[in-house]
Amino acid sequence: MPASPSYESICLPIEFMNALSRSQDLSETLNLISYWLPKIIESDRASVCLGNRPDNTLEVYALFGNTAIKAKTILPVNGTMVGRVFQNQKLEIQNNMSESEDLDCIRLREGGIHSCIDAPLQKLGNCFGTLNIGRLAENAYQPRDAIMLECIANWLANYLHSQMEISVQKKRAETDPLTETSNRRSLTTVGNEMFVKWKHEHQSFSMIMIDIDNFKGINDIYGHNAGDQVLVHFSRAVSNVIRKSDLFFRIGGEEFVILARDSGASISKHAERIRKTIEQMTVEYNNQTINITISCGVTTVHDEDDSLECVYCRADQALYQSKMNGRNMTTVVQAHS
Ligand code: GH3
Ligand code: MG
Ligand code: MG
Repeated sequence: MPASPSYESICLPIEFMNALSRSQDLSETLNLISYWLPKIIESDRASVCLGNRPDNTLEVYALFGNTAIKAKTILPVNGTMVGRVFQNQKLEIQNNMSESEDLDCIRLREGGIHSCIDAPLQKLGNCFGTLNIGRLAENAYQPRDAIMLECIANWLANYLHSQMEISVQKKRAETDPLTETSNRRSLTTVGNEMFVKWKHEHQSFSMIMIDIDNFKGINDIYGHNAGDQVLVHFSRAVSNVIRKSDLFFRIGGEEFVILARDSGASISKHAERIRKTIEQMTVEYNNQTINITISCGVTTVHDEDDSLECVYCRADQALYQSKMNGRNMTTVVQAHS
């Protein structure tokens, strides 16, 4: 009988494989990987780093075990072992941290890790991150561990790459390309979710509808490009003045919506703060200074509202009143109780 060939093999937990196939979310996948890696190749810490090309940095996205380098840490590509692996797309193994001058190795050593391996995550010749494992002991990793990590990284890169592509496309579908704010489609999704929360958990929210005054005149006087720049500056100014919990959308040409958690007097004060900020904003374009004003319509969700559409219509009515009463003002219209 011919001798059967002997293959090198990797043993993967069924639970990990199943969880990975079910995961629909990039951050869940990253967490699954860092959780299961130390169980496949014995380790005291595991992490996944993703590259940020414009900044020439790597971010620790998911971490399990020893926290010598914490999750969300931004590491430079230059001067780190992980950065070298990312740049050269070549696995490195370090079994004696005290010999290394790499910034990440120094920090790992200070946190008790004395051996580590970093493997590149690559797809179609592009490296987008690294898989990292570490152990407390010196000389802990064997060449076989490196072969295994490289093989796992190559396999997982397919999952990660397609999930990253999906998140990029999802973000693109929900973002206005000119102002980089969320778009009308996103307002429908997020607004409906907030409305459901209001109905079930009574989490109140308010809507501020904003329309730039006499915007057609800006285009007519300064040109369409200037109009575009005004929209960009306006969006940045609003994004800087709203709170972290507020959500900001461009719903049409020069029409925008803010969804905010507060209600009552505080929301109309908030709208006024935004209106005054824009009144004071100046946009420099081709040595000309452009000023704009906005009209705001404000309302808060109410028990008698059947859908987000009711809230939207009331905010629109309020905005219409601001326009009718002379523009550059805020009007509040609330539902009757
Ligand atoms: P009102 O105070 O009543 O809102 O007057 P308005 O001129 O702002 O309103 P109108 O609806 O008459 O005009 C809106 C203008 O916004 C017309 C359109 O050409 C312009 N606009 C829409 N989208 C864009 C855009 O992306 N870039 C530029 N530059 N202009 C845009
Ligand atoms: Mg308009
Ligand atoms: Mg307008």
